[in-house]
Amino acid sequence: MIDEKRLERFFVEMVKIDSPSGQERELADYVIKHLKDLGLEVSEDKAGEKTGGNAGNIIAYLPGKNKEAPTIMFTAHLDRVEPGKNIEPVLEDGVFRSKGETILAADDISGIAPIFEALYTIKENGLDHYPVELVFTVSEEVGLLGAKNLEDGSLKADFGFAFDSNGPVGTIIIKGPTHNGIKVKVKGKASHAGVSPEEGINAIKVASLALGKIEQGRIDSETTSNIGTIKGGKARNVVPDEVSMEGEIRSHNPEKLEKETRKMEEIFQKAADELGAKLEFEAENLYPAFEFSPEDEAVIRCKKALEKLGKEPKLLASGGGSDANIFNGKGIPTLNLATGMEKAHSTDEYVPFSDLADLTRLIVNILQD
Ligand SMILES: [Zn+2]
Repeated sequence: MIDEKRLERFFVEMVKIDSPSGQERELADYVIKHLKDLGLEVSEDKAGEKTGGNAGNIIAYLPGKNKEAPTIMFTAHLDRVEPGKNIEPVLEDGVFRSKGETILAADDISGIAPIFEALYTIKENGLDHYPVELVFTVSEEVGLLGAKNLEDGSLKADFGFAFDSNGPVGTIIIKGPTHNGIKVKVKGKASHAGVSPEEGINAIKVASLALGKIEQGRIDSETTSNIGTIKGGKARNVVPDEVSMEGEIRSHNPEKLEKETRKMEEIFQKAADELGAKLEFEAENLYPAFEFSPEDEAVIRCKKALEKLGKEPKLLASGGGSDANIFNGKGIPTLNLATGMEKAHSTDEYVPFSDLADLTRLIVNILQD
C-alpha cells in the first residue's frame, strides 16, 4: 500500500538538505511544508530562540476519527552530526550509504521519511487512524536541547515512539540509563620545578592519585563510569597548578548514579586534601532514566504492529540517551524504536531501504487497531 518510490524520494531529498545542530531552518521549512500539505495543524515553538538556533521544534497534530482514543506521538530529530554537509546518498544493492566523505544522516532522516510516507499512505487510502501528534526536535545531537526546551503542557500525546535507535526494525528500547556529566578541576600552585619545587602543589599528581583509585568502565550490570578528557600543566619546568577533567557516570538505577558520583567526588576530594590542593567538582544530570514493562500500552501496541508485519519484537536496554529519555521525564511514555540505521555518527553509516519501508508499514500499523 505504501509508495516506495515516494519514500525513497523523501529520504534522498531530506538527506541532501544541510541541517547541522542549531541550523535546521531549511529542513524545518521542508517538514512544515509537507505537514501542511497533509492537512495537519502545524506550529513551531521557541526552542530555537532559547538555544541560539535558527529553528524551533516542529509540532503537528492530526485528529483521529475517534475523539476518545489516545493520541500517539511520533518523534525524530531534525539535526545531524558532522561531517554532515553536502551529503550525497547512494542506493546500492538495496542499501543507502553516503559517498564516503560524510555521514549519511540516516540518523535521523530514517525516522522522518517513514513518518511522512506513513501519513501520506493513510491520507490517500482514507484509512481510519488514532489521533497523531508529531514532534520534530532541534539540536538533539548537542545535548537533547530541543526536547529539553519543549514547553511543559504543549503536547497532547498519551504515549509515543521515538525513531532514533540503530538496529533492524523490530528492535524496541524499553530501558535507558540516567546520566551525569562531570567536570573536575584540581587547583594546585605553580612554582619553578628546579628552583623551588617545594613551594608548588602539583595538580597532576593530585589528579593521578585520584584517578588511580577511581573505578572506571563497567561498574555493574546497570552502571558505567568514565573520565574521558584530561588537560593540565603549562610547561616542562613549572609545577602544574591546574588540571581539568571531564567524565560521566550512567546508570539505569538513579540511586546508584548518585552513589557513584559521590564516591568519585570523595576520592578526588581526599587526594586534593592530602596534597593541599583545591577541588571543584560539578555533576550535572543530563537526562532521567526510563523503563517500560512488557504490559505497558506502548509496548503492547508496538508488538502487535510488528506481529502484523511478521516481525519478531526484540526488547532491549540501551546504554545511550536520546530524546526518548526527555519525553519520558516529561511524563509521556516514549519508546525508542530502531529504524534500520547502522554505524551512525561515522562515514560508514548506512540503512537498508527495506528497513525504511518496514518502518513505514509499522507506523501505519501502530496507528490502526
Ligand atoms: Zn539520532
